[in-house]
Amino acid sequence: MAYLGNPARTKEVINKYHLNAQKKFGQNFLIDDGVLEDIVSSAGITKDDTVLEIGPGIGTLTQYLAEAAGQVIAVEIDDKLLPVLEDTLSEYDNAQVLNADILEVDIKSLSEEKNNGKPFKVVANLPYYITTPIIMKLLEEGSPVESITVMVQKEVADRMQEKEGSKEYGALSIAVQYYADPEVVCVVPPSSFIPQPGVDSAVIKMTRYEQMPVVVEDEKFFFQVVKAAFSQRRKTLVNGLSNNKELGISKDMAGDALEKIGRTRTERGEKLSLKEFAQLSDILYGFTRKD
Ligand code: SAM
Repeated sequence: MAYLGNPARTKEVINKYHLNAQKKFGQNFLIDDGVLEDIVSSAGITKDDTVLEIGPGIGTLTQYLAEAAGQVIAVEIDDKLLPVLEDTLSEYDNAQVLNADILEVDIKSLSEEKNNGKPFKVVANLPYYITTPIIMKLLEEGSPVESITVMVQKEVADRMQEKEGSKEYGALSIAVQYYADPEVVCVVPPSSFIPQPGVDSAVIKMTRYEQMPVVVEDEKFFFQVVKAAFSQRRKTLVNGLSNNKELGISKDMAGDALEKIGRTRTERGEKLSLKEFAQLSDILYGFTRKD
């Protein structure tokens, strides 16, 4: 089986198996060998690595990954693609396909079962409709993932790496930057896919920190604070935080905490850095535990 990373071979496979790209599964198949090579080289894959691929599709990126990695575990939700993958990956003994929803997979057990508990390098052309839940699952504490190199919507890649003060900065930027160092590798036009998505895409690499840049007292509370801070973008932080009933933060508490970190009571979430959010969250955590 020749490489799939070009329009002619991809169309051949689509015709052979009478495939219709499933919109509900976010299926846009890569047909650009330059982009495929960029993904694999930026992910820094060697024969010592086990790659976890999310959504192999017809196996295009999987072939490139299997050439570079020791082992590839590819998780695909669409069972109609299983016979296709059996065909396109038949020459790769080191590639294995699991038919599952990645959001339901226990990644820790998977790494114990397939990789002696060692962390995976995740590489994928992600289904765009569930980008954020997938990334959050991969980043969350304890998940055995060393790096994540993925194709996402360009707008989402921008949000992941923005810093405070920018329009795109928000809860996703903070969540990603809390765990990892994000870097956009390249921007990819719709013409690199069949069918073409309606938006530009980008490859982003997130390398998990060995030493976290901030430490918080309670991670769950920290993420609740961040979410509440950006839930009503046009409102002040005091309003956003006090409107979230789960947190149990009054307007006074929120205002006092902001002043303690050297901000005014009318500040908005998009102005605060990751470090300031960590400080704010710890102060508020103390307040809510006292009362
Ligand atoms: N890797 C292929 C490529 O680059 O040509 C296909 C990428 S396509 C953008 C996304 C893939 O993710 C599809 O194959 C889709 O069926 C699969 N997918 C969608 N939702 C999924 C889920 N929850 N778990 C696992 N795979 C999923």
